[in-house]
Amino acid sequence: LAALAGALRGGQIQVIDLTQTLTPEFPQIALPPEFGQCWPFRIEEVSRYDERGPGWYWNNFSCGEHTGTHFDAPIHWISGRDLPNNSVDTIPVGHFVAPAVVIDCSAQATADPDHLLTVDAVLEWETTHGRIAAVAYQNFDETGQHTPGPDAEVARFLVEQRDVLGFGSEAIGTDAGQGYHLRPPYPCHYYMHGAGRYGLQCLSNLDKLPPTGALLICPPLKIEKGSGSPLRVLALVAASS
Ligand code: MN
Repeated sequence: LAALAGALRGGQIQVIDLTQTLTPEFPQIALPPEFGQCWPFRIEEVSRYDERGPGWYWNNFSCGEHTGTHFDAPIHWISGRDLPNNSVDTIPVGHFVAPAVVIDCSAQATADPDHLLTVDAVLEWETTHGRIAAVAYQNFDETGQHTPGPDAEVARFLVEQRDVLGFGSEAIGTDAGQGYHLRPPYPCHYYMHGAGRYGLQCLSNLDKLPPTGALLICPPLKIEKGSGSPLRVLALVAASS
């Protein structure tokens, strides 16, 4: 720990913020209109050094658990609803600090907003970077959201064959925008949460992370029986030179 603190102070390890700023304009995930909808982020000033409070500034805010950069707990999905320690207040805190691997799909997602990550693409990535170790935009059109994500087979593969702790993305969900049409629907939620694993979405700055070797720190709010929470996500990265 002393060596870690020294490396942070000396700049040999950098701290990178993977978090989007919460604003009322931040896009909220939208489900088909027959389903319940999440609140967007709202903020209201209580006082700002004025007659409402001469010496202090503060705000009230409201939002859904799944707003902005946020954490998905296993209880979020029906496949994880009966697992032990499945809500944000009961997940072992050691799971909130873990190594990350980064699979860059930005070029494919630029060419095809519905791009799906496949098992073949993960195996190809592993030929360069080694085997995965166990451990923002919405783009609406008349057919819904179009954002990239994993296909059903690779979501299951990452859980069952690579034993990952979770799956994160810069997109608005861990599943593709058209993930409802996959089988099972929203497969990343289904397989990850069904196995007691986690999700992070609306991440930022993933291009500043190496393919392997970064350490993520991502503790959600301790909401009783919470299915998720907005959070600040930090990555520790060894300085490149
Ligand atoms: Mn979520």
